[in-house]
Amino acid sequence: MITPEDVKQVAINAGFSEAGEIQLSNLKFHRSIRKMCEDNVCRNYSTTWACPPAVGTLEECMQRCSQYAHMVIFNQVFSLKNSYDFEGMKQALLNFKATVDIFYDSIHGKTEDLLILSNESCVRCRRCTYPDEPCRFPDRLFHSIEGYGFIVSDLAKEAGIKYTNGPNTVTYFGAILW
Ligand code: SF4
Repeated sequence: MITPEDVKQVAINAGFSEAGEIQLSNLKFHRSIRKMCEDNVCRNYSTTWACPPAVGTLEECMQRCSQYAHMVIFNQVFSLKNSYDFEGMKQALLNFKATVDIFYDSIHGKTEDLLILSNESCVRCRRCTYPDEPCRFPDRLFHSIEGYGFIVSDLAKEAGIKYTNGPNTVTYFGAILW
């Protein structure tokens, strides 16, 4: 089986800034974070197959994660013109999603079963099929890391990677379980 050290190296080679291991026994699934999804704080709730409620209940997310032996989280840092550079943030998210795809292409042949989580919702299609038709790209349907009830800053702390990277930057996160 591929080791966490190997996976971290694949992540860095794909273009992520940092990667660190999480002990699955330490994972905490916070109902308060899921409540923020349900309150539609990010306006993605019930809009894609990658976000709640489509990813299942918190208990189903816990059960899904419990099937894996290892977890590594990764981040990617992007520069912004200033703290109001919303276009820059939007482009950075697209660039982050592209890096997740490169990572998936590099890793999916190395381990039989894996789960990839990615910041925010899915932006792959101009218009998501949710809820009328199945996802167009189920192999590349990467669930929202926040939708699983994780406090991403806590995960970053445990993994020993930075959650923020100073003024005029945005840092996006994802994870792999295998
Ligand atoms: S890949 Fe397309 S259909 Fe599937 S969740 Fe993403 S946007 Fe929706």
